[in-house]
Amino acid sequence: MKAVLFEQFGQPPRVQNVPDPTPAPDGVVIKVEATGLCRSDWHGWMGHDPDVVLPHVPGHELAGTVLATGRQVTRWKKGDRVTVPFVGGCGHCHECNSGNHQVCEQQFQPGFTAWGSFAEYVAVDYADTNLVALPEELDFATAASLGCRFVTSFRAIVDQGRVKPGEWVAVHGCGGVGLSAIMIASAMGANVIAIDLTDEKLAFAREMGAVATVNARDSADVIGTVNEITEGGAHMSMDALGSPATCYNSIANLRRRGRHVQVGLMVGDHARAIVPMAQVIAHELEIYGSHGMQAFRYQDMMAMIRTGKLAPQKLVGKHLSLDEAPAALMAMDRFEGLGISVVTRFSS
Ligand SMILES: [Zn+2]
Ligand SMILES: [Zn+2]
Repeated sequence: MKAVLFEQFGQPPRVQNVPDPTPAPDGVVIKVEATGLCRSDWHGWMGHDPDVVLPHVPGHELAGTVLATGRQVTRWKKGDRVTVPFVGGCGHCHECNSGNHQVCEQQFQPGFTAWGSFAEYVAVDYADTNLVALPEELDFATAASLGCRFVTSFRAIVDQGRVKPGEWVAVHGCGGVGLSAIMIASAMGANVIAIDLTDEKLAFAREMGAVATVNARDSADVIGTVNEITEGGAHMSMDALGSPATCYNSIANLRRRGRHVQVGLMVGDHARAIVPMAQVIAHELEIYGSHGMQAFRYQDMMAMIRTGKLAPQKLVGKHLSLDEAPAALMAMDRFEGLGISVVTRFSS
């Protein structure tokens, strides 16, 4: 099969012919119909993720059809249209038994713990626990765009952030995660403030439901501006980018007893960000992480998509070919373009 492969961290990946994958006893092989490009792929390529073993095929936001099943798989058969959350739980450990597959102790992550979906085929382990059936009306590109940023935002806003109608929600960073969060929080009835560095992304954030925007490049005091708009601070705030500045602002712009959710990755030099801990104590702030979402939680999200309350297709930006993926991956740290780029053409 054709796959995007890199042999060294930071060296240009190339489209190459590699052996077709075979399913593990509890896994499937999926014919990839669409796979999203994500900044996490860029981090993996740069060597920021200890799970990545060279040589490596990235890609973790995928949708496609089941091509082959392992002998232990009971719920899926050839031809099923499926997607998976980017964190697949083993289904047997303590965390999985408590319903928290997103923090499984033996998690399977395509494109990180194994070769991923920038390829014609991808092998996915723990299939019975993690595969999600796609409704007929959901196209593959939109389905692929759900697997990482959209589901993580859904969990961040709904399950971790516990956003209620009428609350103020601040979203720092308007890439794929931030725009998803804005759409989801707005659908939950919250008033969303979008914060970013470019007017273009803020205009798009308004289209996704933001009622106010702050350009952090123009505003010397993001925290003060959010406090002013919300008359006392956001009830819930999210760092969707992952940087010391956005993490700090997202915590510091909360009202008393507010909830911060960190979704943007903090790796490398950013791994130890400064937290206004005095404010966390005095105002009883809550700080959460959000890391993917369990496959069984897709049901509620899919219902909101089916009824039109959520429209993830609006976040799908460019469609690319597999041959265009290496250049696009290497450019992922430059934050160009709106929405989520998806590879949908695999043969040349
Ligand atoms: Zn991703
Ligand atoms: Zn587990």
